[in-house]
Amino acid sequence: MSLLVKNAAIISQDEKRSVLRGFDILVEGSRIARVAKGIKEKAEFVVDAKGCFVVPGFVNCHNHAAMTLLRGYADDMELHSWLSAKIWPREAKLKEDDVYWGSLLACVEMIRGGTTCFADMYFFMDGIARAVEESGLRANLSHGMIDLGDKGKREKELREGERVVREWNGKAGGRISTSFGPHAPYTCSRELLEKTLELSKKYGAKIQIHLSETRKEVFDLKKQCGKRPAEFLGELGFLSSEVVASHCCWVSKSEVSLLAKRGVSVVHNPVSNMKLAGGNAMPVQEFFEAGANVALGTDGACSNNSLSMFESMKFAALLQKNARWDAVVLNAQQALDLATRNGAKALGLNAGVIAEGKLADFSILDFSKPSTVPVHNAVSNIVYSASPSNVRDVVVNGKLILLNGKIQMLDEEKILAKAQKVAEDLVSR
Ligand SMILES: [Zn+2]
Repeated sequence: MSLLVKNAAIISQDEKRSVLRGFDILVEGSRIARVAKGIKEKAEFVVDAKGCFVVPGFVNCHNHAAMTLLRGYADDMELHSWLSAKIWPREAKLKEDDVYWGSLLACVEMIRGGTTCFADMYFFMDGIARAVEESGLRANLSHGMIDLGDKGKREKELREGERVVREWNGKAGGRISTSFGPHAPYTCSRELLEKTLELSKKYGAKIQIHLSETRKEVFDLKKQCGKRPAEFLGELGFLSSEVVASHCCWVSKSEVSLLAKRGVSVVHNPVSNMKLAGGNAMPVQEFFEAGANVALGTDGACSNNSLSMFESMKFAALLQKNARWDAVVLNAQQALDLATRNGAKALGLNAGVIAEGKLADFSILDFSKPSTVPVHNAVSNIVYSASPSNVRDVVVNGKLILLNGKIQMLDEEKILAKAQKVAEDLVSR
């Protein structure tokens, strides 16, 4: 299949962060074959992008897609009681089919928001994988493992984690990749973490983990073993460029340099952190200075409650500025980097940049909306004033999955109606 995008202004996100005006993009198969002016080759599909901006697809590096079903179900609560009183009891009643419909809803929302790839940690991953397969999106999926020190539970979780990697890696025409998902150092035993490390090496798979989201978990671990979470993982030999660690809000300076030195990608989730009142902003500036790869995530829809990466970019920038009393830090360009090229790097994707040879994962943004006129600086508009309503077309793996505002591979109306029903049923069980 081939696709030609004509007359675009391209926010390339290349090394120089070039903006190319009046360029065409030729896509062949799943890749960008050429980026040039006046491409003459014929293509099966031609999209005119005159007056629009093409931007690399957003990579949402931390999500629990199926939690869309609990969006708005338990807001304005403290994190630990939110989890134990509201979320976990509902999750205990989930079935695979619910997860499938919740994930389809998430996919529709993400496509409309210009997200082309997401990382997910949850359970009933077959349901999520089926949704990803049908949606046309790209994803990195992991079964979230929790053992709380219980040996039987540990073995069961590891078996399931390994099954997901074995069954789904490389599926959906290569759009699905897989990883291992030990939930966090406070919910996983040392044995579970060690075994995860072994399996990650065996399969060459990445590891997704929550790390130092709250002050409580840092102090609890310190009381238990005398070490802070990143130090603890460092001593286990767990930290490497295969690790994608979400949150990292409550980290010391030496933990920042340890995580950076070991090549860990850290994922900032500003909306979720602020909504759950984590109290501390991820030290993004220190991570930059230490040379770490910083990516961006929304987290699940019941701690956000949106899956919009536009919002997450804006909140990331605003949170840093406000927390540090410094309007200069985390500028718009850096926020866009977090959501595109850095996210692709975290998940090991040859994407996040619009250039020849890269995966054809990008969005076409229409700025002719009140909140994005005028365009003095397109990157500023994307980060500070754009929204999913600006996303006109989305291409993933060389295929148009949103065209002129219409979802191409899913029945959106049916999904919204069914997700409402499933969600109502879930909370009444
Ligand atoms: Zn999470």
